[in-house]
Amino acid sequence: MFVFEWLAERPVFCFRQGTAVSLPFCVYSMRQLTLFPPAISVENGRICGPLAGDAPIIVSNGVGVDSVAMLVELRRLNIVPDAIITALVGRAGYGNEHRRFYSYLPVLEAWLAAAGFPPISYVWYEMQRPPRYFSYWSLAGNCLANRTLPSISFRRNHSCSLKFKGAEIDRWVTAQYGQRPCYRLVGYDLSEGYRAARFSIKTKRDGPRSHDVYVYPLQLLGLDRVGCEAVIVAAGLPSPGLSACVFCAAMHPEEIDVLHPEEMWLIVILEAHAQINLKKIRGLWGHGERMTEYILRRRLLPPDLVAEVWAKWSAPERPSELRDNPEAVADLVLFAEVRRLAALCG
Ligand code: SF4
Repeated sequence: MFVFEWLAERPVFCFRQGTAVSLPFCVYSMRQLTLFPPAISVENGRICGPLAGDAPIIVSNGVGVDSVAMLVELRRLNIVPDAIITALVGRAGYGNEHRRFYSYLPVLEAWLAAAGFPPISYVWYEMQRPPRYFSYWSLAGNCLANRTLPSISFRRNHSCSLKFKGAEIDRWVTAQYGQRPCYRLVGYDLSEGYRAARFSIKTKRDGPRSHDVYVYPLQLLGLDRVGCEAVIVAAGLPSPGLSACVFCAAMHPEEIDVLHPEEMWLIVILEAHAQINLKKIRGLWGHGERMTEYILRRRLLPPDLVAEVWAKWSAPERPSELRDNPEAVADLVLFAEVRRLAALCG
């Protein structure tokens, strides 16, 4: 039996079949632990807590360092999830995430198969109502269609993530399990207590997922980001890096330096096309320097072409690709343009 106990202002003691767990685990566990469920124990590879012993265990898998470390730790603890779900922000060539995200998927899928874990179930956003302006398949398409930027740029509760990831994962769980309460495992590490708190309160009180119990195993295990990286290395896996959209406001400037030209053009077009509606912020990073200005300052794209593209996409009137084609899908127009521009840059 493996037991997690939270004891206020006391270290956590962990035992597996009567013996202390491995040294790295104990070292991580001695750190200050926050936001724990009152008591959770795991017996014969199952989570035991407030739900029935056979409650489905659902992993939200973002394919970043935290999610992968969580899967590795679950395997070490002999906890086999019932489902592992990844939300794609755009699909089939119109994805918004860093290229490393897509190249890591086959690596992770192979590891999951070898571990005896279920394969990843993929979900994605699909419009449920007719669009106000143009149809879209991804967050980037959403922003282009509405001439706006992701909510994180406005510091508005990351509703972009909830819409394109959280809500779709919830929808999948409900389709699969109805209103049956599930354990929902999310890979927030020790440094992300605030995210766990925000995530939990976003569940609708009277919705079909209102009786799910959110579990943050990395926090229970006392793992921070460095610890997660160590767990991944020890499992013989490469680090997946952070998983995020290529235009996310949370991105550090130096991360733009290594983007593919297509991804930089995506940034330029999104910022330019949203300008007409931006009253309180300047661009994807909010109030400060625009990502486009950073790209120009670092000479990552040809300045003349950036000026031309900026003029085209920031004009009050939509470019002809959209203006003359009300049935256009925003993603098709956007990605055709970024690929054309990237090809021009050689
Ligand atoms: S990665 Fe950033 S931009 Fe993309 S959905 Fe999440 S918060 Fe929004």
